[in-house]
Amino acid sequence: MGELATDKHVRYILSVEKKKDSFESVVMEHLRMNGAYWGLTALDIMGKLDTVDVNEVVSWIMSWGFGGNVGHDPHILYTLSAVQVLALFNKLDVVDVDKVTTYIVSLQNEDGSFSGDIWGEVDTRFSYIAICCVSILHRLDRINVEKAVKYIISCKNMDGGFGCTPGGESHAGQIFCCVGALAITGSLDLVDKDLLGWWLCERQVKSGGLNGRPEKLPDVCYSWWVLSSLIMIDRVHWISKEKLIKFILDCQDTEKGGISDRPDDAVDVFHTYFGVAGLSLLEYPGLKPIDPAYALPVDVVDRIFFSK
Ligand SMILES: [Zn+2]
Repeated sequence: MGELATDKHVRYILSVEKKKDSFESVVMEHLRMNGAYWGLTALDIMGKLDTVDVNEVVSWIMSWGFGGNVGHDPHILYTLSAVQVLALFNKLDVVDVDKVTTYIVSLQNEDGSFSGDIWGEVDTRFSYIAICCVSILHRLDRINVEKAVKYIISCKNMDGGFGCTPGGESHAGQIFCCVGALAITGSLDLVDKDLLGWWLCERQVKSGGLNGRPEKLPDVCYSWWVLSSLIMIDRVHWISKEKLIKFILDCQDTEKGGISDRPDDAVDVFHTYFGVAGLSLLEYPGLKPIDPAYALPVDVVDRIFFSK
């Protein structure tokens, strides 16, 4: 089995920067706030966040003002990424906490669900994002947690998994969001852990990789969605960690750096992040541990909740 080509992955993430004048212009044009979160969190897990100019990134985020990319409508997805990036750099003090919290509170619906933006699309993904974001900002009490949890549970299926709305098909990405939100709100007792654990461990295919739904191809990004869920419900020993590590390492471009969805495909920052984050969850040597619910390095989460 090969090893994680850490230096090459760091260089790959930073090389995305060099194609343009600055890291910010690139994330703005191509990857926006989510891309900044993926790239920077991967760098931090690999212990290389200091290769980035903090002030440059923070001032870009602030100029962008949590309102979505410049010229775009605000969306809760980008708001969480901005908060996560600021948390990575220990710069949460620049956030207008009341403004961001008020925006998120305004997206909660009567039934406890959350919309992604003012246009109203409802999805359990947005429940996770809202809950994670207000929790990082120490404002969980500002939303109706009881109703939020009730809505998430209404999206639970007979197979133990969760869908995007009540009755929606179980999907690993959605399961991560629901289990993560329940973990953050201290409601994991509402999950049928054995049933869900069985569904999740069935996602491991012959190559060792994980898929997101039955009959689908394995994909490195599911190393995160499935694995973090298994860890949160304490069933990670039901899959072969060794085989999954091998699958992720087989998806590396060992020459130019970066990780792809499947072996020999083209690399991108998204899958590089999920590959590195997955290996971190698998306790791969040399990587910082990542928190399965907040999707931030454990030392960052500890700083948010235990310093002061
Ligand atoms: Zn993928």
